[in-house]
Amino acid sequence: MAGIKWVLASDIDGTLVGHGGESELAQYLSEHPEIGAIYLTGRTRANAEPLIRRHGFPEPLALATDIGADVYWGSELRVDESWAFQQRRDWSPRRVMRVLEGVPGVEYLGRSSHWRLAFRVTDHHALTAARTRLVQEGVMHRTLWDGEQDRMDVVPRGAFKGRALKYILNRLSIRPQQCFVAGDAENDGDLLEGRYRGVLVANADIGLREKLPPVILRSPYEGAYGVLDGLRQFLNDPIDQLEAEYAG
Ligand SMILES: [Mg+2]
Repeated sequence: MAGIKWVLASDIDGTLVGHGGESELAQYLSEHPEIGAIYLTGRTRANAEPLIRRHGFPEPLALATDIGADVYWGSELRVDESWAFQQRRDWSPRRVMRVLEGVPGVEYLGRSSHWRLAFRVTDHHALTAARTRLVQEGVMHRTLWDGEQDRMDVVPRGAFKGRALKYILNRLSIRPQQCFVAGDAENDGDLLEGRYRGVLVANADIGLREKLPPVILRSPYEGAYGVLDGLRQFLNDPIDQLEAEYAG
């Protein structure tokens, strides 16, 4: 933590990785050790960690996995037990499975982790039916819908990247003004809602682009090039705009 002045808090897939510029961004960050890295991903720890290392991105100050359901600290990635405990209090994957069993058009696919259950859902009727069932049965949850794969994931209701980031920054005593966020998709929406300066990369979902506040840069570059573009602009002019917005 010593010497950290700024933090890049970023999504991984589609933002840091997958659209080029990975090595340029990794190089830039290695030349700027005053910028700490926080990664927030839908992946599990087991498949996020190798990706961060393979591209030479900095060791994390923290890594939030499963859309913020788990938080890990530092380069040794110590799990945050109290955070996990909070998530676990009202999370019951077996209940989710039992309640959705027999709902027409909904088929259990499996779970990628303790926090994430995947279902194949045939159409919007089935999706609505599944969501209604979960609510009627009082199952605490949050659903994520991937229309391209006809897939619905059920995760703990507190699994939000923005919520995890707020917790991480608090614990590290990093102010929102020191934090720069980056993302590309719907599950980054609550990172990019205007609490922090940030960038939406060019390959992002179009719907998301229109929803975001002006404080979020829309980079003309994809992936890691977009993150680098946004980060450079932020570091040239880091404080005033956000403070003006807070004051206003
Ligand atoms: Mg993404």
